[in-house]
Amino acid sequence: MEEKLSFEYAPAPESRALVSIKPKYGHFIGGKFVAGSKHFPTINPATEEVLSQIARGGKSDVDAAVKAASKAYTTTWSKMSGKERGKYLFRIARIMQERSREFAVLETLDNGKPIRESRDVDVPLAAAHFFYHAGWADKLEYAGLGTTPKAHGVAGQIIPWNFPLLMLAWKVAPALAAGNTVVLKPAETTSLTALLFAEVCQQAELPAGVVNIVTGDGSTGALIVNHPGIDKIAFTGSTEVGKIIARAVAPTNKSVTLELGGKAANIIFEDAAIDESVEGIVNGIFFNQGHVCCAGSRLILQESIADEVLEKLKNRMAKIRVGDPMDKNTDLGAINSKEQLLKIRELTAVGDSEGAQRWSAPCDLPGKGFWFAPTIFTGVTQAHRIAREEIFGPVLSVLTFRTPQEAIDKANNTPFGLSAGIWSEKGSKVLWASQQLRAGVIWANTFNKFDPTSPFGGYKESGWGREGGRHGLSAYLKGVSHE
Ligand code: NDP
Repeated sequence: MEEKLSFEYAPAPESRALVSIKPKYGHFIGGKFVAGSKHFPTINPATEEVLSQIARGGKSDVDAAVKAASKAYTTTWSKMSGKERGKYLFRIARIMQERSREFAVLETLDNGKPIRESRDVDVPLAAAHFFYHAGWADKLEYAGLGTTPKAHGVAGQIIPWNFPLLMLAWKVAPALAAGNTVVLKPAETTSLTALLFAEVCQQAELPAGVVNIVTGDGSTGALIVNHPGIDKIAFTGSTEVGKIIARAVAPTNKSVTLELGGKAANIIFEDAAIDESVEGIVNGIFFNQGHVCCAGSRLILQESIADEVLEKLKNRMAKIRVGDPMDKNTDLGAINSKEQLLKIRELTAVGDSEGAQRWSAPCDLPGKGFWFAPTIFTGVTQAHRIAREEIFGPVLSVLTFRTPQEAIDKANNTPFGLSAGIWSEKGSKVLWASQQLRAGVIWANTFNKFDPTSPFGGYKESGWGREGGRHGLSAYLKGVSHE
């Protein structure tokens, strides 16, 4: 029987009074905020309001940051015991928890994601990464990563805009725990929480130069990648830029980890619990507006249950609340930038022209800002671009299968291999399927579960190396295989 009840929700906006955004920011180098020379605006994608002016880092800024990181490494951080380093990481984690509302509000304003997600997922997970890695700092000798583990030196870290603070934590926490110092570049559209994190470093009295943050665009990222004073590169972003970085570091001694794109299969077998699967599909593709590298963007559905699942899915999608990201009842917020919205529109138009059938949930999209209604495409074939390319938005491509082997063949027919989901009541089928799937992370009867103890990373064009857990830590130590 279908749910007929619907509720009216009164607005429940989070207050933005807690955050103070400066009109203009510089870089964070050698423990101090230093003025930038050129600036660009950062906007709230839900309203197009200009929030602040962000500095565009050039060669002299990157040079200064690498110099500060190198000095901090040689004079302070590499001489400090793991136990002392760990104390700083614990301190940072606790301050992040204390200032969690401030971080959540700022993340939502700058990124467009619902406050419910930044408050309940991004910020607590970011703090958890610092807590987890704080625990490793004095135990590196016992991690099974060699008896005399040694840091690389200066790590250059470049992060994307989909989980700005969380990606910072994924990168900075293991780097510092392993004894490296850091030069980090946040994404152009989402620098504000990284700059607030710089304040946290000051508050925690982290020695000057251990963490440096240079804001800017892709050219600033390239300056970091190509700087001779950088010993290790860690990048999360598109496969396209990942390939540029791989080519740039190939003739050097730099160690590199790349966390790139995905086109994950979410496979629903006919014996799965249907209602739970529908929730898993929604969480898999509509969490964070689908701006998730491991999003379950290809639904691979057994033909015998396809009609039932699609009907329930459409009913469920019609109840997704799209709108003001600062409202605590909002499920789906704004698309992060105009560029990303245009990319989603372009790829979905290709889906129409290639013959797939589009269905979008009925919803009123706000007049200002960047928005895209939750959408599914049925009748998708493996040759369609919407089945092969990362759309990186709230768009699901639906394919069907008859036999388990066909499901596996379709799931693996992708240049990516970051994640996958399997829904089945039978443990033996879950184990069989997970052994056949070429993906780094496989969820069974759930989706998008993250934990700092669990390694995350992909096969094929989804990247090199792992982040999180003991595996992720090893990427920040010399001479240790990180696979
Ligand atoms: P990019 O890969 O371009 O950006 C990721 C980071 O790399 C940003 O900080 C970016 O800076 C920086 N960067 C860009 N060019 C270079 C370069 N040549 N050298 C070093 N650093 C560089 O992703 P986009 O933001 O442009 O998004 C494009 C597409 O990538 C999306 O539509 C999506 O499909 C995919 N994507 C995938 C992600 C994932 O986690 N798998 C995350 C983000 C995007 P800046 O922001 O200033 O351009």
